[in-house]
Amino acid sequence: MPAKITLAEAMGTCFGVQDAIDLALDPAFRDRLTIVGQLVHNPQVTERLLAHGVRIVERDQLDQITTPAVMITAHGASEATKAALRQRGFIVYDATCPLVIRLHKLARYLEREGWFPVIVGQADHVEVRGVVGNLRACAVVHDERDFEQLRGQARLGVVSQTTNRLDRVEQLVAAMRALPWVEALRFIDTICQPVKERQAAIGKLLACDIDLGIVIGGRNSANTAKLREAIAERGIPAFHIERPEELRAEWFAGKRHVGITAGTSTPQDVIAAVERRVREIVASLP
Ligand code: SF4
Repeated sequence: MPAKITLAEAMGTCFGVQDAIDLALDPAFRDRLTIVGQLVHNPQVTERLLAHGVRIVERDQLDQITTPAVMITAHGASEATKAALRQRGFIVYDATCPLVIRLHKLARYLEREGWFPVIVGQADHVEVRGVVGNLRACAVVHDERDFEQLRGQARLGVVSQTTNRLDRVEQLVAAMRALPWVEALRFIDTICQPVKERQAAIGKLLACDIDLGIVIGGRNSANTAKLREAIAERGIPAFHIERPEELRAEWFAGKRHVGITAGTSTPQDVIAAVERRVREIVASLP
């Protein structure tokens, strides 16, 4: 019998990413806009933007900008970065997701209230770099090995990168609370709702007994990687792909139930193309 295929109840492009893409693809910006960094971590979206005449430069390549307008990505940037761009004479369009803005505001609020800000996340992720750039002093914690940076800080004010898994962040918060020098800890949950919905949908997929997971998203998409991790840590094989051409028939051999999900920067048409290819492969197997 061909394997059953179940799509996650919530997956693919979130409103923050969609709004940023729509803004960049506005006809008024054709050939007039440079995006600093990847607007979203997805290769197909990047290809569409380039086809629209949008230029993309890295943060250390500001000298290469030749368009009048510049866009800050959905992941946000520090106020200093935005000011530097304005000083260079660019018109700055800010596509920072409102939920990333909320994270910035809460990190600064904790600092103002006398807490030592701690961001749970990846120090080299553009969203985290933006938050860090707006604080006087702070620590970025990815795992327990980073706790040494907190030594001597008695009052920790903790926020999270928006795409983290809540269970993992709560574990780290509990471990920080138990550090011998910590007298008080305030945690504000800044994981975004669309990410939580996608994580909850993974829980439902696992509950329906899938024995193979296909997770679609950019190779460098943090939230896509975490969706794959959530399936794999249950001992279920899970593959992170960007395109339908990457699917391999041997992954599906002998499988009963395939679960498909996608990160928050994966367009619906890419998900539909992967689903079609999975159905073809499953139907072709003996
Ligand atoms: S993943 Fe969440 S925080 Fe990031 S752009 Fe989407 S809605 Fe905004």
